[in-house]
Amino acid sequence: LDSIQAYDADLAQMLNEEQQRQEAHIELIASENYTSIRVMEAQGGQLTNKYAEGYPGKRYYGGCEAVDKVEALAIERACKLFGARYANVQPHSGAQANAAVFMAMVNPGDTILGMSLAHGGHLTHGAAPNFSGKYYKAVQYGLNPDTGEIDYDEVERLAREHQPKMIIAGFSAYSLIVDWARFRQIADEVGAVLFVDMAHIAGLVAAGLYPSPLPFADVVSTTTHKTLRGPRGGLILTASDDEALHKKLNGAVFPGQQGGPLMHVIAAKAVAFKEAMEPEFITYQQHVLGNAQAMAGVFIERGYEVISGGTKDHLFLLSLISQGLTGKAADAALGRAHITVNKNSVPNDPQSPFVTSGLRIGTPAVTSRGFGVSECRTLSGWICDILDVMSAGQATDAIEASVRDKVAELCARFPVYTETRA
Ligand code: PLP
Repeated sequence: LDSIQAYDADLAQMLNEEQQRQEAHIELIASENYTSIRVMEAQGGQLTNKYAEGYPGKRYYGGCEAVDKVEALAIERACKLFGARYANVQPHSGAQANAAVFMAMVNPGDTILGMSLAHGGHLTHGAAPNFSGKYYKAVQYGLNPDTGEIDYDEVERLAREHQPKMIIAGFSAYSLIVDWARFRQIADEVGAVLFVDMAHIAGLVAAGLYPSPLPFADVVSTTTHKTLRGPRGGLILTASDDEALHKKLNGAVFPGQQGGPLMHVIAAKAVAFKEAMEPEFITYQQHVLGNAQAMAGVFIERGYEVISGGTKDHLFLLSLISQGLTGKAADAALGRAHITVNKNSVPNDPQSPFVTSGLRIGTPAVTSRGFGVSECRTLSGWICDILDVMSAGQATDAIEASVRDKVAELCARFPVYTETRA
């Protein structure tokens, strides 16, 4: 930050503040992670200067020789990593990748069937304020309240009743293994396209620790910055050899949804895909899973309800309904103790989506900084200590201060970016 510091002290101070927060606070937001320095180097480099509308070999601008090679490499690696026959590495974000898939696969006004936001789906899966809920006739499925599992019978019933053109599977908050084959069977029964958004689990899928949706879905999208630990961005894949489909998807990204691709981000995606093919990446993802199970286990031991009874991926939802606590208040109290989580609706939530009765907790970021099962169990204990005091209706100042001190010590023992971390 030296040159920014010298030129713009105000901004440098803000950047430093965020850098300090990332080092000194514990990050449990399930969609966040810490990329490698290599990823940030690529993303912060000169490729940000280049316009490259079009695709490798077919650009609307000159001077694309080097960036053509970069994009081709990113595509090749994405295909290898996920066993895909086609990849589009240009989407600026997950939401834009999804918008492009909609544009390619359905028409405005068509019926789509996706998981509701309140039950763990994403905004782009048909939520009312999003383009997917505004321009399409969105029907929404959810979880079976008794099992916490996706209600596949409801998906089937809604599909038969509404005959959607596209079914969307995938989630932002779900801790079990999705039955991709069941979704395929339901989609086939009603002649719908099956679109899987694997944004949350892409890193686990890449490591072979969560079933890949590629063999089942017509189209798969993902973000590159969650469990996959790359730069912020989107990616579209398919295992299909259908060239007409590839062409449709390419056209929907550019010129359908976007102008020039972010070539610096594409370079950073190429780095992340290479990293995800290393044996250490599998070990990392194994620890992500083990840490999530360890954390969920402590909450259960301490009498808290974990939705679905546990976790089989990198995250879980804690219901605070029986403690009479809101997610909003719990999120704020933990934040004061320098533990970052996010409030989240839970099934049958009596509170509004802005208040909620739950927390979403994920382990990709803490695992990247080196926390193991022991640190994760300790951390869950601290969270329970704060929630216990809250649910007893007592003041939380003292417990927040005591946890904050312990968080500072733990973070100092596990720096995110060290001299030695690549
Ligand atoms: N899809 C899912 C399942 C997500 O969880 C998210 C983000 O949280 C997105 C898409 C959107 O990604 P972005 O924030 O990059 O637009």
